[in-house]
Amino acid sequence: MRRLTLALLCTLTLIGAPAQASAGPRPMEVFSEDGTITRVPVDLPEPRLRARLAPTATVTPVEVNGDPANRIDLTFLGDGYTAADQASYSAQVADTWARMTAKEPFRTYRELFNVWQVNVVSPVSGVTGDPTADVVKDTPLGAQFWCDGLERLLCVDIDAARAHAALAPGMDQIAVLANTTKYGGAGYTEEELVTFAGGHALGAEILPHELGHSLGDLADEYPYWAFPGDGSRYEGPELAEANVTIKNAEQMTAERAKWWRWLGSPTPDGGVTGAFEGAYYTQYGAFRPSDNSLMRSLRREFNSVGREKMIAEFFEIARPIDAHTPNTSPVPRQSTLAITTLPVEGLTVRWFKNGHEMADWRGRTSVRAVGGGNGGTFRVEVSHTTPDVRDPAHLAGPLTQSVTWTVKGNH
Ligand SMILES: [Zn+2]
Repeated sequence: MRRLTLALLCTLTLIGAPAQASAGPRPMEVFSEDGTITRVPVDLPEPRLRARLAPTATVTPVEVNGDPANRIDLTFLGDGYTAADQASYSAQVADTWARMTAKEPFRTYRELFNVWQVNVVSPVSGVTGDPTADVVKDTPLGAQFWCDGLERLLCVDIDAARAHAALAPGMDQIAVLANTTKYGGAGYTEEELVTFAGGHALGAEILPHELGHSLGDLADEYPYWAFPGDGSRYEGPELAEANVTIKNAEQMTAERAKWWRWLGSPTPDGGVTGAFEGAYYTQYGAFRPSDNSLMRSLRREFNSVGREKMIAEFFEIARPIDAHTPNTSPVPRQSTLAITTLPVEGLTVRWFKNGHEMADWRGRTSVRAVGGGNGGTFRVEVSHTTPDVRDPAHLAGPLTQSVTWTVKGNH
């Protein structure tokens, strides 16, 4: 009954529903098989009416590490997989997740993620444009190669993808696998959506780069808009993202700006952190922290600066304290005050009574509110530390969380 009502509502909204915002070309990322990334303006295909119909699909929890309210939710969709192809789809999702969690910082912080798989069943196997431009398949998400004339650019119907992803309990990032062995993909940087070939060994490598944008707010460190060596120069104001700057190493050190804390330190993608010219789609005038990180080429590691920012952003979504006993109103004396923390290494738990640390309670996740005094307070502070995060603002910010309980006075 509920499903029928939803379908009716959605049919009604078809009438006069505004078309998907598609005013002019939008920037999208194209990934070459050799790992090179470029950014090009793309005219997206027209959305189709099916996108606004109520989607139906089952959802498989691939890996659930906690309440979606305090986890980063990664939602996989498949397009062009028939009922008979679903086992293959499941295997490709598992492989993608395994590759992602082999790479830092996802490996260390794996348990901050939930992974969901929406089982979209297609009436036809395969997707449009595979193997050649004249092949058309009517699949639920409209995946298609040759998007805007670019063979390796794999577009989808964004509305249809979002509607299906909404079937999962959470979606901080949507990853669409297309049922194909033909190399291709796309990064919808404004949509927190990525597409790639589910059956190509390199397809999944696109995902961690896109998570660098969607989760880490990282900039691209490659210098080209569409073609390398174009002589372009960045002449605008200082850049907002953590991993690009208009300052050279001397200026960063003098001004304590950007990644000055990392200058001269080894970086996980190789070499030493410095100021390398060429980033943010320009050849000159913008600097990146390392020679060739994942934000510049596929199949690389994040550099120290990118890794630090990713971890900080992970903790913005997945807070150090998973749950705690209620503190919205004063608690009786002798109450048990308890927390559960994120399942990660490197957490410190400290308790404070009326502002003074109870050193004996360090590391405990449950205490008794004893001797709180008249209207006193108990506060617990959970903080995560790692050598991968140096910025005190991150350490005191997203990597730390406190909860305070007020104890009822004696009346
Ligand atoms: Zn990018």
